[in-house]
Amino acid sequence: MTIEKIETFILKDKLSNSFFFSQWEYSERCICVVKVTASNGQYGWGEGYGPAQVLKSGVDFLKGHVIGKNPLENEVIWNHLYRKTLDYARRGVLVASISAIDIALWDLKGKILNLPVSTLLGGVFRDKIKPYATGLYFIDPENPSKHFKEEALTYIERGFKAIKMKVGLGIEEDYKNIKMIRDTIGDDIQLMVDSNHAYSLREAIILAKKIEPFNISWFEEPISPEFYKQYKELRSKTSIPISGGECEYLRYGFHQLFRNNSVDIVQPDICAAGGLTEAKRIAALASTYGVDVIPHTWGTAIGIHVAMHFIANLEHIPGRMKSPDFLMEYDQTENGLRERLTYPKISMVDGMIEVPKRPGLGIEVDEDVLMEYALSEEEINIL
Ligand code: MG
Repeated sequence: MTIEKIETFILKDKLSNSFFFSQWEYSERCICVVKVTASNGQYGWGEGYGPAQVLKSGVDFLKGHVIGKNPLENEVIWNHLYRKTLDYARRGVLVASISAIDIALWDLKGKILNLPVSTLLGGVFRDKIKPYATGLYFIDPENPSKHFKEEALTYIERGFKAIKMKVGLGIEEDYKNIKMIRDTIGDDIQLMVDSNHAYSLREAIILAKKIEPFNISWFEEPISPEFYKQYKELRSKTSIPISGGECEYLRYGFHQLFRNNSVDIVQPDICAAGGLTEAKRIAALASTYGVDVIPHTWGTAIGIHVAMHFIANLEHIPGRMKSPDFLMEYDQTENGLRERLTYPKISMVDGMIEVPKRPGLGIEVDEDVLMEYALSEEEINIL
């Protein structure tokens, strides 16, 4: 059996309401999805995290090195793609293009062998995962957080046990928002804050110290992802766990975070950092430094399912009879590609999501919905 065809789709969902975070505004979701088909007609789906048209070019560039190969030898294919891009793309979107192909190959391999991806990864340590709601983005530039209270309450009503909110508006405004959200959700719900690297080290220390009384589970990307040693210094100045890594690539990039003692929690985006093949290595590396792994997710339901299988297979270090619930990022902002693209739908019961047991990633892509969101060649050319 060989890989016969690799197709790319750029899917665009225009949002009914744009929202923003500390860096820029979102008015649409635009994602590159990849379909890899084998000579027996079976196929797998993957997606990349990054600018969709650049990702597509990357996949188009790489596919000549994948077609004709045995789809069961996905690790060998990964290494081949890595070597083909190493000299000029050790970081960035070409790695995300490799990730999209790699994920599609894991899905395809699972379907060929009639096994879920989590089994291929080595098995499940847990069959349920605790999703946390990613939301509380800013909407109105004049009064960015006026909807925060109401939105936080909807997450509680829907059964979420953990919520992540955006910060990065300035120390005083962030402080007020965090205090208000903690007062709104009570003490039993986990609360995390994410500045998307909005702050200098000095500012991040001041904000972290001010919000320590609010029992914050982690402060995500407090400062620029380039400043590995500043992350370490921040960790030494606050009791709040520090997280980061969604802008990092490959085990070599992540090793910078680990050997500099930069983070308590590392957050690789599997659809960018090198796919499932590399994410498993990053998790192994994290375990040697005693760092927890909670992947970043932001995309279609394909990426969320990738995260479920990966998290199901994460070791709990150190082990004990009753290990804690493992968290999964579950974006709640408007996104038709998360809600409509795949079936069966993701369902949360008592604040937990069951790890899919069907072969591959455990989902089917609704190709009618796919074509509804897919851009034509002409539309792609003017992106
Ligand atoms: Mg983040």
